Amino acid sequence: MAAISLQQVRKFYDNGFHAVRDFNLDIGDGEFVVFVGPSGCGKSTTLRMIAGLEEISDGQLRIGGTVVNDLEPKARDIAMVFQSYALYPHMTVRQNMGFALKLDGVPKTAITQRVDEAARMLQLDHLLDRRPKELSGGQRQRVALGRAIVRKPQAFLMDEPLSNLDAKLRVEMRASILKLHRQLGVTTVYVTHDQVEAMTMGDRIVVMKGGEIQQVASPMELYERPVNVFVGGFIGSPAMSFLDGELRDGSVTGDGYALRLPAAMAARAAGNQGAGRAVKLGLRPEILSLDPATGAALAVVVDVVEPLGAETIVTLRVGGGTVVARLGGNVKLVPEQAITLYLDTARVHVFDAATEANIG
Ligand code: ATP
Repeated sequence: MAAISLQQVRKFYDNGFHAVRDFNLDIGDGEFVVFVGPSGCGKSTTLRMIAGLEEISDGQLRIGGTVVNDLEPKARDIAMVFQSYALYPHMTVRQNMGFALKLDGVPKTAITQRVDEAARMLQLDHLLDRRPKELSGGQRQRVALGRAIVRKPQAFLMDEPLSNLDAKLRVEMRASILKLHRQLGVTTVYVTHDQVEAMTMGDRIVVMKGGEIQQVASPMELYERPVNVFVGGFIGSPAMSFLDGELRDGSVTGDGYALRLPAAMAARAAGNQGAGRAVKLGLRPEILSLDPATGAALAVVVDVVEPLGAETIVTLRVGGGTVVARLGGNVKLVPEQAITLYLDTARVHVFDAATEANIG
């Protein structure tokens, strides 16, 4: 097992495209770190640079303290798991899992033992004699994981390993991967574009956009203290809503609303800008409620009602803006109904309208 450290790592593709900018990150020994961000943000490129499948244009990559920029993938002692399982169709599960060890000249009895051990962990023991075409998608992905495990690498790198699976299986496999990580304690870097996957799996999450790290934090920290509008909007489902407004004398006023902020928050957000400051308010769906005890009143018009059983997701209009609220399962609301919601202003996020940085 090993720590992985990236210092000022950059990637320019041959066409001059700057895919990764000044990437700095220290991944602890045994840590499970998730890279998340929208398509094209550079997460796969970064993972592939760690794997040695993509050349590092600039900066330094260390695995286990050693600079490995110029080491071949094989010499880095890491195992990669991809979205496509890439199993050999003519080989059995046992042969697929043991193949890399065989190439490395590991003795046959040791291969059998390691494959059996990995198969037990992944509940593949009864499938060892089957060929890939006789397996379900989830089972194939387990074999792909098994193939990585038997090598006992210093780190696992996983690139969207679950995106070919249906929703239910994805949830099951998430749990399997986490259990495996608990058992083996191997440093893991996991790439996904799915923020729910990132939130449920990562010890720490690296949120990327446009080749740049936006924030590195634990799931709860990301949720509760997003550094900017992008992170606030990307993490959380339903997403954070944003209202444009102007902060002046402790209150934010915008189209169709006026809210008094808690004094400390207003002072932080105002900074040294004495006059009004253009801001965006960030509202998580759960800080809105029908209960007046929650806080400040907000006049809204119901737009869309989505009953989910235990809760109801309601999209509402505030002047020309939109907010989404997570309300109880038994609310009776209809589109175009004018209602008052109540807002816990202590849990509002205030972002600067121009820089989009969190200033509250
Ligand atoms: P996705 O979730 O879609 O895989 P990603 O965040 O993993 O996205 P990357 O695959 O790392 O994104 O790509 C980052 C950027 O680099 C993208 O804009 C992509 O178009 C570009 N890119 C990737 N490979 C090359 C290449 N070989 N040459 C030029 N540009 C590339």
